Amino acid sequence: MARNGLEIIEGLLEKVEELSGQNVFACYQCGMCSAGCPLTDEMDLLPNQVIRGLQLRDWRTMESNAMWICASCFSCQVRCPKGVDLARLMEAMRQIYLRQQLDHVSIDDMTPEQISKLPQIALVASFRKKTG
Ligand code: SF4
Ligand code: SF4
Repeated sequence: MARNGLEIIEGLLEKVEELSGQNVFACYQCGMCSAGCPLTDEMDLLPNQVIRGLQLRDWRTMESNAMWICASCFSCQVRCPKGVDLARLMEAMRQIYLRQQLDHVSIDDMTPEQISKLPQIALVASFRKKTG
């Protein structure tokens, strides 16, 4: 079990590929995706490092915050010379996590001030993306 409570399932790499429709091994680590990603400052792993982790079957990749930070902007996919759609990979990783009824955000962990100040649309979007 990973630190975040995720049950490590047999064949996680294959599940990510099945859900995303992407071939993880198409990536040859050129780094173009990370160079163009607008959110790498907030990520603990760069997008190309996420793919490398999957290739190596390093399940610590699933503990990275990158999949939650990714905004599915598709800049990486446009830049990728191999046509790898990282946004789909990130979405598949989120789905594997959320389908185990694990929430990445919880309203119980938010302060009343956060709840009152955050735009409602941001709260709704966050719960749709980050709760199982
Ligand atoms: S741009 Fe494509 S080939 Fe290059 S590191 Fe990113 S996913 Fe891999
Ligand atoms: S889709 Fe996600 S990983 Fe790709 S560039 Fe946008 S934010 Fe970064």
